[in-house]
Amino acid sequence: MFEDLKWLIELQKVDRAIYQLTGEERTIDSKITRLNSEIEELTLNKLKSVRKQKEYFEDKESYQEDILDHERILGQKKSDLDNEKKTKKEHIKREVKKLEKALQVFQDKLNKLDEENHVLEEDITDKEEKIEELKKRIKSKNTKINKIAKTNKEEIEKLNRKKKRIEKKIRKPFLNHYYRILNIRNGIAITYVTPDGLCNGCKIHIPYQFQQKIKLSEDYNICEGCGRILVTDNFLD
Ligand SMILES: [Zn+2]
Repeated sequence: MFEDLKWLIELQKVDRAIYQLTGEERTIDSKITRLNSEIEELTLNKLKSVRKQKEYFEDKESYQEDILDHERILGQKKSDLDNEKKTKKEHIKREVKKLEKALQVFQDKLNKLDEENHVLEEDITDKEEKIEELKKRIKSKNTKINKIAKTNKEEIEKLNRKKKRIEKKIRKPFLNHYYRILNIRNGIAITYVTPDGLCNGCKIHIPYQFQQKIKLSEDYNICEGCGRILVTDNFLD
């Protein structure tokens, strides 16, 4: 058999073992990534509510100033009512009514703002609680990952030493191609032709002549579909 290929197959066996040993870590890791993006989204939405709340405080302040102004003028008018001559009184009364109406409008607006703020307040608290909960979950997942990594440490180190020994026997261009495919194809860089004549990696049909060539194992044969190295037998099972 083609010498580089022989060693690449040995390397793939070791890499497969490492991939399987680290499988749970990878699964947990991708869950952590998802939880982190949930936190990111919640934080962004919370910031929106906080910004709205800032607007609320500014609006509230301006309405309160309006109310104070109107109350001051209203007080003035009411005391005018006691002092002015009768002819002017009707006019002042109308003004008082107008001012009272305006005051009511401001007060209503203020009440509505308070209600809206209450909703914002609840929304912010709710998001903060959710973020805390997610952080706790991430923490426990990290603990789990560390525990698994610790358990597997010795085995992984052993496999890595074996990898180093095998790598030395393979020429650089073959090794580089192998690792490139391994990284983009979920830990499988070498696969086989199924009895139906398909690449077991990507299920593309392998032409008969190419199958015969692969059987000879005298060359480095690459699947046109997935870029994996093709061999005849399923050596991983
Ligand atoms: Zn393929």
